[in-house]
Amino acid sequence: MKFCCPHCKKPTLSLKQKYLTGKWREVYCPECGGRICAQPIVLAVLSFFYTWDVMLFGYVALAKHSWFYFGVLATGWLVLDLLNLTCPVSRMRPKNSNPKIT
Ligand SMILES: [Zn+2]
Repeated sequence: MKFCCPHCKKPTLSLKQKYLTGKWREVYCPECGGRICAQPIVLAVLSFFYTWDVMLFGYVALAKHSWFYFGVLATGWLVLDLLNLTCPVSRMRPKNSNPKIT
């Protein structure tokens, strides 16, 4: 399973690279070397739901000593990870493209 690079439009990104963009990491296209990250606004919304999932169901699981709510937490996490893979990716400028402002 390959995902398209936003720079060269070729399906060069591996599943692992796509997953890492969803964890606020930047990756580099193996074909063109372009710098890529996940779309920041979509990623911020997803991160909110990750936090909400862990805080709410983690708290309930601990408070009630319930494996059921721990399962809900884990299932929610997996669903968010799957959504994460559908998160669009953005192009980033090369690292040293901006002159330093002093
Ligand atoms: Zn590329």
